[in-house]
Amino acid sequence: MYKCYQDNIVSGCESFPLSWVIGENLLYLAMWTLTGYLLWPIWMPLGLPLLSIIWVILVVIIQILLKKHNCSGCYYYGKLCHLGWGKIAAAMFKPDSGNPKTGIKLAFFYILPPPLISLTALAFAIIRSPTWVYWLMLGVFVILNAVSFPVRKKGCGLCAMREACPGSAAKKVTA
Ligand code: SF4
Repeated sequence: MYKCYQDNIVSGCESFPLSWVIGENLLYLAMWTLTGYLLWPIWMPLGLPLLSIIWVILVVIIQILLKKHNCSGCYYYGKLCHLGWGKIAAAMFKPDSGNPKTGIKLAFFYILPPPLISLTALAFAIIRSPTWVYWLMLGVFVILNAVSFPVRKKGCGLCAMREACPGSAAKKVTA
């Protein structure tokens, strides 16, 4: 585990239920898939959905880097955290093989794209009047993102890393 985390580990869930792990991963997969769908018609040079292709490449690269820079130094490395990614990290990278500072920067992947995608898709929908399916998918995307906040907060609340992790949604506020 990264040294910067060691003194702040608190008691938490040692291994999350598989149903939780699968459910939360499906939630993220749904949001990433919907992002690809919403970006698809926005920019299509030579008939290629270039933004969707870039998005897929970005998701794959960022997810691999996150496993290295965040998960390899996490308390849950080799264990079943709420996303199960500690197990994936252990299968891919040596312990503490990343850089926590890079990991923090990579975590912006969860913060910046959702509002950017929502606003871009909304502007596209208003200007180009796509089919009702596009509007429906945009609505589902916004709802899933809203749902992800309480889900994340619940996961962080049970996580042994909640006081150590810079991205924790369940840190105690100290005066
Ligand atoms: S709790 Fe977060 S940082 Fe730790 S292994 Fe799971 S996903 Fe990775």
